[in-house]
Amino acid sequence: MVNEFKIKQEICEVGRKIYAKGFAAANDGNISYRLNDKEVLCTPTLVSKGFLKPDDICKVDMTGKQIAGRKKRTSEVLLHLEIYKKNPAVKAVVHCHPPYATAFSVAGEEIPTCVLPEFEVFLGPVPTTAYETPGAQSFADTITPFIHTAKIAVLKNHGTVAWAETVDRAYWWTEILDAYCKILLIAKQVGKVERISEPKVKELLDLKERFGITDDPRRMQNADLCINTEFGRGFASPAPACGCGKPNPVEAAVASAMGNTQLPGGMSEADVERLVQEITDRIVATMKP
Ligand SMILES: [Zn+2]
Repeated sequence: MVNEFKIKQEICEVGRKIYAKGFAAANDGNISYRLNDKEVLCTPTLVSKGFLKPDDICKVDMTGKQIAGRKKRTSEVLLHLEIYKKNPAVKAVVHCHPPYATAFSVAGEEIPTCVLPEFEVFLGPVPTTAYETPGAQSFADTITPFIHTAKIAVLKNHGTVAWAETVDRAYWWTEILDAYCKILLIAKQVGKVERISEPKVKELLDLKERFGITDDPRRMQNADLCINTEFGRGFASPAPACGCGKPNPVEAAVASAMGNTQLPGGMSEADVERLVQEITDRIVATMKP
């Protein structure tokens, strides 16, 4: 028999952690726990996760309809319910907006692997979902492909969602992922990101299996060990000279003139002269007020 009050206290405690860590600004984030196959406890909407009381926690059925609680349930409960419906082993879900992990999805970068041993053992590959507007079933559906092959996912341009047998564990996955992403981003500022060699990563995967964690998708699907090997080569493109965001007018005029001129294999002097004139005219045109 589950002690409902104890679970509510645990939800409040994890709420305080995600708020203190900066994973949930203002009223962001939501936490839930499946009591049985008909009832789920979840956090209310418009309440800071840093100041939750057990009495604030709501109860919903498996369709998201509120069945208990004096405050209105979170608008993102459908995301949680989707995970519970698809994976019966999951008891708890934590959704929040940890900044370092979220930054990868905003930049369109997959989370790289093969960098830190603990991350490989506890998490391994972390998928990124497709973008959808939060709240509706279409948003909840973006997590479906990953429910059985991961325990945390990055929600594209949004945040993270983690699932586990306890609220604490779902929080741990979130904290491990964000600490890892923070190290990656700092390392890239220091220089390049060096990876663990493939044989050593295989040793870590063996270790993982000995710990009883057998769900690493790289083993299950015989896939590449290292994900996003491009990450960490340093800053390939230099920062723009000014922050104005406008294209350089001279470069734009040259590109435009070149693009409009079909050059034959061998150019005559007259062709070159005409091209120079055209470029000059376009540069002068961009300089006129
Ligand atoms: Zn959110």
